[in-house]
Amino acid sequence: QAATNNLEAFWMPYTANRQFKQNPRMFVGAKDMHYTTADGRQVLDGTAGLWCCNAGHGRPKIVEAVQNQVAEMDYAPAFQMGHPKAFELAARLTAMMPSPLDHVFFTNSGSESVDTALKIALGYQRSIGQGTRTRFIGRERGYHGTGFGGISVGGIVANRKQFGNMLNGVDHLPHTHDLSRNAFSRGEPKNGAEYAEELIRLVQLHDASTIAAVIVEPVAGSTGVLIPPVGYLKRLREICDQNGILLIFDEVITGFGRLGTPFAVDYFDVIPDMVTTAKGITSGVIPMGAVFCAKKIYDAFMDGPDHLIELFHGYTYSGHPIACAAALATLDTYEEEGLLTRAASLAQYWEDGLHSLKDCPNVIDIRNLGLIGAIELTPIDGAPTKRAFSAFLKAYDDGILIRTTGDIIALSPPLIISEAQIDELFGKLRTVLNAID
Ligand code: PMP
Repeated sequence: QAATNNLEAFWMPYTANRQFKQNPRMFVGAKDMHYTTADGRQVLDGTAGLWCCNAGHGRPKIVEAVQNQVAEMDYAPAFQMGHPKAFELAARLTAMMPSPLDHVFFTNSGSESVDTALKIALGYQRSIGQGTRTRFIGRERGYHGTGFGGISVGGIVANRKQFGNMLNGVDHLPHTHDLSRNAFSRGEPKNGAEYAEELIRLVQLHDASTIAAVIVEPVAGSTGVLIPPVGYLKRLREICDQNGILLIFDEVITGFGRLGTPFAVDYFDVIPDMVTTAKGITSGVIPMGAVFCAKKIYDAFMDGPDHLIELFHGYTYSGHPIACAAALATLDTYEEEGLLTRAASLAQYWEDGLHSLKDCPNVIDIRNLGLIGAIELTPIDGAPTKRAFSAFLKAYDDGILIRTTGDIIALSPPLIISEAQIDELFGKLRTVLNAID
């Protein structure tokens, strides 16, 4: 309460985002599908926090598991020691992954997962005598967090331009946004495997023997819900296989039920060499992430190039007991409530609601998959306007939380959302879109 009474003192030392200073918005509570604001209003969560609270907020089983774990054992070192919940969680998570992704590294965030995966890729390649493979390939408009690795492979130029390239050679495959636009064709992604052929061009340009890995978000989330063209990810897999290049799927957003399957690997039926996750792993309750890979990659990475010493890799908080307890209870909640496939059963309802907004002013594209969606608004002369941000502000005042990036409004509600709440979300969005100019 002190902080909300004295915003000035609070925001001087801390804000992640300058816009906040002009427009302070404070949440002080959260339960199921709603946040409570500092001024006592209920806001329907249309974004699962930051794409993470997939089971909703304040779920009893998760809260209880965290409380019990703090009381029972707050912390256990991750090196030379362990604790049973870390092993139980590793077993349950790897059982959710397709073969051969049967090993896991724990991290504390999506950014750490990405940097870990890039490091594993380099270590693995070196270990198998492919030490010249040091280049990485990302995608334009890919988002992979804020670590040096993540911003380098990430396809958002603004996030990395003042730092230069932090890795030993990075290229970005062209985005396929024009193809990912559904316009108003209602979720019929277009064919576009040929877009992956750009990877062949890069292989020819640099030689396969210099490329360690390709990293992509199966569906790019943060840059506006960009759904890949049909066949694209499968073709990337083929080209990587033919050229000894590892393929990494960054499933920080798509993991844990967002698309109506446990992971995007299931939805697209493509098995990469590594999968990075975070967010939904604990439903946002405690920071945690994970990287999945096959035993052969795990062993080669941990053995190092000379196979003599075991590599040191991990974090003070890898497999933190409280995070593991939260993750296990989150998995229980997902399973008991069928949440990992719930997005599939709601997908049509979600799509109908979303597409009912297509006649609102300035709407030029709507796209969706599972329980993820985007509404793209008209730019002016190709440059982003403040329209989407105005929509965000009005939506917040009207009691719904949405997310914006440039001219795009992104939606990714908790997977527990009801049909009535979907109606409420889109009903209020209609009012918002009609009100902004
Ligand atoms: N990868 C993807 C695909 C993400 O969406 C995000 C976060 N939005 C990250 C990585 C980074 O995760 P974190 O913010 O937990 O570091």
